This record gives sequence, structure tokens and C-alpha cells, in this order.
Amino acid sequence: MSKYFGTNGVRGKFEELNPLLTMKLAQAIGIYLNRGTVAGQLVPLTSSLDTVLGRFATTVLVGRDGRLTGDCLKYAVFSGLQSVGCKVIDLGMVSSPTAEFMVKKLSADGLIVITASHNPPEWNALKVVDGNGIAISREEGEKIEIMLDKIKTVSWDKVSSVESYFSATVDHTAAILASVDVAKTRKRAPKVIIDCGNAMASLIAPKLLQELGCSVISLNSTIDGHFPGRGSEPTKDSLVQLIDSVKLNNADLGMAWDGDGDRIVLIDDKGEFIVGDKVFALSVLFALKTKKGSVVTTVATSKAAEDIATKFGMKTYYTKIGAPYLCQELLERNAVIAGEEVGGVIWPEVSLAKDGFLTAAKMIELLAESGKKLSVILKEIPQYFNEKTKIAANDEQKMKIVRSILDYAKKNKFNFIDIDGVRINFDDSWVIVRASGTENYVRVFAEAKTQDKAKKLMEEYVKLAETFR
Ligand code: MG
Repeated sequence: MSKYFGTNGVRGKFEELNPLLTMKLAQAIGIYLNRGTVAGQLVPLTSSLDTVLGRFATTVLVGRDGRLTGDCLKYAVFSGLQSVGCKVIDLGMVSSPTAEFMVKKLSADGLIVITASHNPPEWNALKVVDGNGIAISREEGEKIEIMLDKIKTVSWDKVSSVESYFSATVDHTAAILASVDVAKTRKRAPKVIIDCGNAMASLIAPKLLQELGCSVISLNSTIDGHFPGRGSEPTKDSLVQLIDSVKLNNADLGMAWDGDGDRIVLIDDKGEFIVGDKVFALSVLFALKTKKGSVVTTVATSKAAEDIATKFGMKTYYTKIGAPYLCQELLERNAVIAGEEVGGVIWPEVSLAKDGFLTAAKMIELLAESGKKLSVILKEIPQYFNEKTKIAANDEQKMKIVRSILDYAKKNKFNFIDIDGVRINFDDSWVIVRASGTENYVRVFAEAKTQDKAKKLMEEYVKLAETFR
């Protein structure tokens, strides 16, 4: 079991993920990325470190978000990477999708992004991506953690200076613009209100949307590590100002991103909040209209995406929750799109990152292509209602509950998926019971064709889970 790595990197408050631990983790990550290949195979980490250290000219990119601790941790990351022989390129302050896009662009061997995504301001995290642009999973993270006890530094003459590359946002913006029909979006020229949440979207979204021909009103578009505007997590409650502004200005669309910009939620022309699940369903609809292929999503995602894929005669593959798993499955299935229920969508033609800005551009293209209002396009998305809750459970109880629910599903001969918790599929509803990876909770999500049915289904399984606790 990993001590530090979660489903997507190492996350903690500043007193936990402090500069010392950060530097040690960066050393271990550097060694992990630095082991090179022999005859096309990655050198196993069990090899003597002397055969690996400093032997390969490994380039690791480093980016950070706008958090107050970002700069402090950045220098710890530099130091750790340099001390094990990596060449470091500083990308400066960038969104996560921008940093991830640069891995291929600069032919780097890996990337560390210092960002705690949507977490509160006192948090920070190291998000690690390998040379193929794939985020490091918990399982790969365990291999990195083993290196923590074995760290050796290279000799003094193998330590190189940090180089800078501060055009990443420009490059990423250009790649997004090249992947959409800009002539069409400029012709449609929708009015868009964006809420950058004082975070990384401020760097890229206003300019990108203007380039797409939108008339843009920006809210909270000054970077501030306290997130004074609306917090770093875009929820219906935190986006009151955006919703009001869309209505007041008769805008076509509202957009908001999470702290590091990999996820997006929308407000439609009627001022309705469009959850991540629906953003993904819209993305699937748009992607499959232009290109046929399979769809990849997590076990916590609405069935709407699968229903759309089925309509197009395409298959949907479910994965564990977490970007690394989505990415791996997407490559394996050669899928056209992958995404998760909180609004992170991967469009593989540009990069393997969940990219909230590319998704924003695709949504503008969808509007332009259809000539319809967003509220009208949304009628093409199968309607489902969700209920979500969590119940307290320690590690032992978590395991017991999930195992018992699995037995229950088997005994009743239900159709289930047990790759991450247990998702039980009924005809037009489903429920998932899943242990949280980081907190002492078991989460219960239910989805059905009415809110009432979803609530009843959730309550039934909460009750069941509690009897197993
Ligand atoms: Mg994020």
C-alpha cells in the first residue's frame, strides 16, 4: 500500500507535503524517470542504482499553479531532480493540461506539476506524468516510494542548471486552436461568461475564447492563491455569481474550471448548472459525430455517455477512478474520447491529459456546428438523476462493506462491475458502493431516471452498507 501516492500523485497540506519531503519525493521520482531503457525495456528499479544514476540525459518538466506554497515547493522539486542527475525545464506558472501537453512537445521524459487541483488553498500536491504523457498511478507510485530509502545523488559534475521555457501556454493555446474549426466558431461568435476562480484558467481561457471569436466577460481572472472569488472547486453553490451573470447578460454559455484547469463545468443559456457528467456526455456526442470509436469512462460516471455511444453503435469501457486508469484504457482500446463524472475529458488527438480548455473549445465548436442553443443541444443527452452520499468507515469496515456488497450482488445474480468498489447496473439505473482511497468513508452514488428513484436506490444501499459495517 502506498504511503504517499494516491490515485493521482502525492497530495497534502503544507505541513505534511513540506519542502523536505517534496525534495525527497522529487529525488525518487527523478530516479524512477531516469532509469532509461536497455534493449527497449525500462531498466527495473531493483537494479543497482549506480547503473542508473545520471547515466541517461533525462529531461523532466516542472510546472506549478498559483498557490502560495507553489514557489517554495518548486525549488525543492528542482533540487531533488537535479541532485539525481535530471535535466530540469521550468515551465513556470501553467495549468495542468498545459504542462502535460508540453511533455510530447518538448520530448521530455516526465513532468511534475505542483498543484492541488480543486483542494483548499493550504493544500498542495505533486502530480507526476511519464514520458508518454500518462499520469503515474498509485501502483507506479508505490515503485517510486520504494526508491525513497535508496536515494543516492550523482557526483557534483553531473548536476546541471535549470532551464526555463515560458511559452507553454502560447504553445498549448495554438494546439487547441488548430484542433477546432475556428472559422466556424468565429462565425457563430457566442457570448460567453467565464469564471476563472482566481486560478490557472486566468492564464489561458480569456485569450483562447477570444481567439475562437467569442465575446468574453471574465470573472475572478486574477491569479490569487487564497482563491478569494469562489474557491477552487466549481460547484453549483460556488458559481452563483457566474449563473447570475449568464442570465443578466443573456449569454449563450457560462464556463468554470477547477484550480488547475483539467476539469470544466458549464452554465447553459437558461442559467442551468451543467454538471461534469453532462459535460462529458456532450463531449462524447460531439466526438462521435465526427469520428467513430469506443468511449472510456470511470465506474462513477453517468450512463448517459454509454447510451450515446450505444446509439452510435460504439462500445463503452469502464475503468477505475483516476486519470492514469482512463489514460491506459484509452490507449489500449484506441478510444476516441475518455472522461470522468467531474468534468475531466481527454481528447487524444491533442494530448493524453484531461484538458478543461480543449473541452471548452470543443463546446464552442459544438455550438457553432449545431447552430442551436446549449439548452436545446442538452435535450439530446439522455436524462438521468444522481444522488451521492458517504458513510463513515475505517479501513477494516471499508473492506468489509465493499466485500459484502459484492457477495450480495453475486448472490442476487446482479449485473455488476467490481474493478473499483462495486457498481451494480439495473435496466435504467445503477448504484456504486466504493471505499474512498484517501478518507475514512465509503461512498454511495446512485443514478436513475427520476430524482426520487435515485434517492431511494441510494438509501437502500446505504442501509445495506450500514448493516455490513
Ligand atoms: Mg484538477
